[in-house]
Amino acid sequence: MVETRLKPLKAGLIGSGIQASLTPAMHMQEGAAQGFAYDYALIDLTQRGLTPDSLPALLSQAEQQGLSGLNITHPCKQLVIPHLDELSDEARALGAVNTVVLKGGRRYGHNTDWWGFAESFRRGLPDADLKSAVQIGAGGAGVATAYAILSLGLKNLTVFDLDPERATHLAQSLSVLFPKATIEASGDLAVAMQSASGLIHATPTGMAKYPGMPLAPELLSARHWVAEIVYFPLETELLKTAKLRGSRVLNGGGMAVFQAVGAFSLFTGREPDAYRMMRHFDNLTSGSRPSKDLQ
Ligand code: NAD
Repeated sequence: MVETRLKPLKAGLIGSGIQASLTPAMHMQEGAAQGFAYDYALIDLTQRGLTPDSLPALLSQAEQQGLSGLNITHPCKQLVIPHLDELSDEARALGAVNTVVLKGGRRYGHNTDWWGFAESFRRGLPDADLKSAVQIGAGGAGVATAYAILSLGLKNLTVFDLDPERATHLAQSLSVLFPKATIEASGDLAVAMQSASGLIHATPTGMAKYPGMPLAPELLSARHWVAEIVYFPLETELLKTAKLRGSRVLNGGGMAVFQAVGAFSLFTGREPDAYRMMRHFDNLTSGSRPSKDLQ
């Protein structure tokens, strides 16, 4: 049944260089499928010639215009926090917010990135061995994936990053949050992969702008599962190679869809149909588009 609302529900995404984002289409198509009018706007700092300094003004504007919420992406996920009234436990633990709910004059910060990866992993690699894994990449997305895999029960995590300080900092902060797990930073990927049952890839390597592999192919074997977070292209060189070497693989599309599933439910107060959103996403990504500026 088509619901008649006088005013459409409104939301938006704030970030830099986000013109190619699939998030607005995922939200609006799900709203249409549920029979209500839903406007989801891109608030692209780059296109508007703005810097993150304009965040407070953009948040106030969104409230004045009656938006139900905002997704927040690079480079604003940490910077937005001082401008919020409340944080969910996970957003506080991660120190990053990708979803702000605007309600009754208050701003509530959430993080659906980690849940998006956890949900995608739970569905896509349901019986993965969670004894030990290596994660390459300790940047913004890597914080969320590491938090997710540890929440799913991983016992040993080794973090590797070209910037060793980032890896060490992530390992130390996660050790406080997950005291029962062993979490360390390592400079030797080859040694870490020998004892690992899985690999999480959380760097931009494999996107058109950053072609190639984040590790030597011979480090992958049939013993490993491989979870990728890059989703443009969906099948990265890492995933192609991992499949050829017999590993079980998960692409980055699920994380992108489920972060939107979580945000849709927070903005609208309605449960989205996750399978329908996945089908929408598959349709959106089935024609190959140039890979740039996707969040
Ligand atoms: P970021 O710049 O914050 O972090 C990337 C990290 O990777 C940095 O610490 C960098 O030093 C490290 N790095 C880069 N190349 C490396 C290599 N070859 N070996 C080891 N470390 C390396 O970036 P981010 O925000 O964490 O995003 C990373 C990727 O994740 C991007 O491609 C982004 O599009 C993707 N992403 C996907 C989703 C999704 O929903 N699937 C969500 C967020 C981000």
